Amino acid sequence: MTVYRPKPNLKVLLAAPRGFCAGVTRAIETVESALARFGAPVYVRHEIVHNAHVVNRLAAMGAVFVEQVSDAPDDRPLVFSAHGAPAQAYAEAKRRGIALIDAACPLVLKVHTQVKRFIAQGRHVIVIGHEGHPEILGVMGQSAGSNFTLVESKEDAGTIAPPDVPLAYVTQTTLSVDDTHAIIATLKRRFPGIVGPRKEDICYATSNRQAAAKAIADLADAVLVVGSKTSSNSLRLVEVAARKGRPARLIEDPAFDELGDLPENGVLGVTGGASAPEELIETLLTRLAALFTLKIETVEIAREDVAFKAPLLHAS
Ligand code: SF4
Repeated sequence: MTVYRPKPNLKVLLAAPRGFCAGVTRAIETVESALARFGAPVYVRHEIVHNAHVVNRLAAMGAVFVEQVSDAPDDRPLVFSAHGAPAQAYAEAKRRGIALIDAACPLVLKVHTQVKRFIAQGRHVIVIGHEGHPEILGVMGQSAGSNFTLVESKEDAGTIAPPDVPLAYVTQTTLSVDDTHAIIATLKRRFPGIVGPRKEDICYATSNRQAAAKAIADLADAVLVVGSKTSSNSLRLVEVAARKGRPARLIEDPAFDELGDLPENGVLGVTGGASAPEELIETLLTRLAALFTLKIETVEIAREDVAFKAPLLHAS
């Protein structure tokens, strides 16, 4: 005899904003438009955004992802990813006559402009960010000289010994807001003449998603963040929730990943990084609905109406 056991309840708090930002939407639409206009293959330097689901979908449509311009042929369009690229990558594409389509987020390109301005002023630039992240490789690739010192932590900020010249700082767009404030405060204390952007370069989407993650973490027993391991802003959302003392877990594939201990008859916070498609959140909710009787509420801390103009598609 089958014993009927009612499903336990689960209240889900959905963070808002979550998921795609304006830069990610623009980058993905750029690849789709290039495929529609030029046909396959369209080459893309680096993952267009850090999400395997998005990359696999575009690859199935005919996008070919390469790491270097040298891996792309001369005669096909090449899209630069949302993370931006070093100056030498732009120069190589130009030299080889490649039809370059730049999907770098305008907010990343703003940091490139700041860096070039600071260097033109004779300043050494402290770059606050994560070593090896493509955005940082792009930022530090805006000048061929040794004009940069990378700072990844408050400890780094307390120990670096930059050259004795005027200093400036810039930041990666997807950092922890709280950590970055502490790093900048340390730099300003050690180097009182240092200059930087009016506000740190952390973008609106990163700030909003972190604030929303804090808001759901305050109210939840546990938090799930949909996003990829390579996505800096998704990892920061896990950190933000964990710092609130909540068990927090990154979910790369909501259909199959281990979900961890879910709070039966409790409250679960759910959010997604800036490169995580909403359909992955929906997959997660469908899976949860099979296990629990769900009550879903949205916790909205800000409304976003940012949109960026599409880049030019050059004829190949
Ligand atoms: Fe642009 Fe921010 Fe989105 Fe990065 S996270 S693509 S900087 S809007």
